[in-house]
Amino acid sequence: MTDTGSSTDTGFSPERIATGKPHSARMYDWFLDGKDHYPVDAEAASKVLELFPGAKDAAWANREFMHRAARFVARLGIDQFLDVGTGIPTEPNLHQVVQAVVPSARVVYADNDPIVLRHAEALLHGTPEGRTAYLHADVREPERIVEYAREHLDLTRPVGLSLIALLPFVTDERDPYGVVRTLLDPLPSGSHLILSHGSAEFDPEVMERIEEVYRAGGTPVQTRTHAEVTRFFDGLELCDPGVVPATRWHPEPAMRVRQEQPVYVGVARKP
Ligand code: SAH
Repeated sequence: MTDTGSSTDTGFSPERIATGKPHSARMYDWFLDGKDHYPVDAEAASKVLELFPGAKDAAWANREFMHRAARFVARLGIDQFLDVGTGIPTEPNLHQVVQAVVPSARVVYADNDPIVLRHAEALLHGTPEGRTAYLHADVREPERIVEYAREHLDLTRPVGLSLIALLPFVTDERDPYGVVRTLLDPLPSGSHLILSHGSAEFDPEVMERIEEVYRAGGTPVQTRTHAEVTRFFDGLELCDPGVVPATRWHPEPAMRVRQEQPVYVGVARKP
């Protein structure tokens, strides 16, 4: 950790932000009513919303699961987190959630979108006693992420690894299960995996058309079944209530979205 309590590593000079085609992080920002997207993103996201009027609720249910799950894991005493596929900052961000429980918590963020890098500054301001760091990296190079995490976290103590709405962007030919294994392998017993993933099981036809919108924008995306999402937790001990639709995971009265959404989520402990 640096003396200033925050650190960024671009790994390479930031790519130009391509504003001619839609980007997943910016479309997600549009669903969350954020401001960091371009017309091309709004157009693609509106197409998704036409096909699936619940898209904004699904994005919110996913984000709210992140809040509850990160808090749950922090309350177990875990004070170090690795969050891959961070997204454009939306308050509260993960470090704010966990530092509200453990002020000294350390968070390493990683994303491969240049616009997230541009906004990374917002991810680096936390509690005075906590630490955050940001790495511009692709999850398909998990070794690089692990190496960076090793510099900023103590990997002899449990870590919360969060992969929230990230793995749909790692299609089967990119070995998503191997990627998750590589990220989990160096983490000690007591570490937790926090994961969410869109699923087509709820409405296969609509999801197929949504996948097409992303593909047409140059982003291959893949929804997965309950069994396929559960497989990401192989070798781990699933916390109650297992892999369930987002709003059914430890629901709280303050949730903005309560209706079931086509997003499977789970939290599990590494034995
Ligand atoms: N985790 C956040 C944002 C989800 S949107 C949340 O749930 O609220 C998906 C994020 O994954 C985007 O920010 C996108 O840029 C990032 N992403 C997609 N493919 C990626 C890859 N191959 N490597 C790293 N990040 C990726």
